[in-house]
Amino acid sequence: MTASNTPAVRTRFAPSPTGYLHLGGARTALFSWAFARHYGGTFVLRIEDTDLERSTPEAVQAILDAMAWLDMTPDEGPFYQMQRMDRYREVIARMLADGSAYHCYSTPAEVEAMRERARAAGQKPRYDGTWRPEPGKTLPPIPTQAQPVVRFRCPLEGVTSWDDLIKGPISFDNSELDDLIIARADGTPTYNFCVVVDDWDMRITHVIRGDDHVNNTPRQINILRALGGELPRYGHVPMILGPDGQKMSKRHGAVSVMEYDKAGYLAEAMVNYLARLGWSHGDDELFSREQFVEWFDPRHLSKSAAQWDPKKLNWVNAHYIRETPNKELAALVAPRIIASQGVPEAVDLTAAMGLLKDRSETLEQLADGAMLFCRPWQAPDEALCAEVLTDEARVLVSEFAQRAGALPDWTESALDSLIKSMLQEHGLKMPKLAIPLRVAATGVKHTPSISAVLNLLGRETVLERLGRV
Ligand code: GLU
Repeated sequence: MTASNTPAVRTRFAPSPTGYLHLGGARTALFSWAFARHYGGTFVLRIEDTDLERSTPEAVQAILDAMAWLDMTPDEGPFYQMQRMDRYREVIARMLADGSAYHCYSTPAEVEAMRERARAAGQKPRYDGTWRPEPGKTLPPIPTQAQPVVRFRCPLEGVTSWDDLIKGPISFDNSELDDLIIARADGTPTYNFCVVVDDWDMRITHVIRGDDHVNNTPRQINILRALGGELPRYGHVPMILGPDGQKMSKRHGAVSVMEYDKAGYLAEAMVNYLARLGWSHGDDELFSREQFVEWFDPRHLSKSAAQWDPKKLNWVNAHYIRETPNKELAALVAPRIIASQGVPEAVDLTAAMGLLKDRSETLEQLADGAMLFCRPWQAPDEALCAEVLTDEARVLVSEFAQRAGALPDWTESALDSLIKSMLQEHGLKMPKLAIPLRVAATGVKHTPSISAVLNLLGRETVLERLGRV
């Protein structure tokens, strides 16, 4: 496919708002979005909220929040199916009038009995066509007071096939497909029907969705053909498996996209990682959103299921953290520090980011690291003091305090030189001085470079803390 023969690419993401936006949904949305962007087309968001029992306004909001976080802005929509009921009824009336749909008065119990009979005869359970009009066929008398459902008059013979953008050619025998109910007895249209009317009305050219919908596609194609609509291209994306090869579930960690925001993943890292999950551009692992859009080609989507790899996600996130300017990181991390009862202003947070970013895989880890500077002073626990702050160590700490106090400039390099001179003068190795200094100045044994930490804490704080030893 080239841009020249598809001038008006229109894709859509059509989630059902029955819960949070899960990783698989976000990735499907991302592929649809990138496809539209790649061809300068239109990306439509459609909320499929006809399942009144399971759809909630909170879930709609969760989807919108997740899309906003990942910066997948729709060009059109969100459209809500519940607001399109009149249109669905209009199309159903038209289909009843032109004979592509018919009223069926069989009761649910009768339909169940038909299915049972088919099963007993070793066939696929199905509606037996009792109310299907055929030339020369006399239909049963219409029962009084019965409310009919509307069924689609599906072709009985032939095959329905399409060349899937991802999976290649797929076909179904029409004899396998039932006369699908398109409107229930209470008049509400059914899911497969609404999707068709929407894709048609919204002039969708490419339907990219999860491969759990492969079985719906021949039904949707047949309905769309009956309506005289132009078929979109379909592409079915294989699912995401957990690291153990099983269906992705809570046991593999978070399945809601927004959990990753909470845990401190950057949206850009998430987009990069999700994009690589089932799509590739050679061996490229790290690429910007713009590169992804530029490179996106559905032919490079994998036919097989992708596997969730939390270690790789962390690696990608660590990369984006390193690439983010310290000032921006400080702004992202400050609210997390406040949430942990820390005081972001206690330190030059931007400088602290520079010190911590290489060792952090998430913003949460960065915030944890920054708490070294931002938490109110806590005396180190007794066992640690007893272990580290021996008499010998205390003498060294106080000598350091005295000499540091006399430094003309409190800089990382001046502190570093002082530490080195003391080690040399006393014939000691680094940990002999650095660990007592860490414990005395920060309350913990492990920190980034001691001279950098002392520099950031500042002369006053350091001298005050060391003075307490
Ligand atoms: N609403 C469907 C879902 O959430 C998607 C339908 C479609 O993409 O055609 O699974």
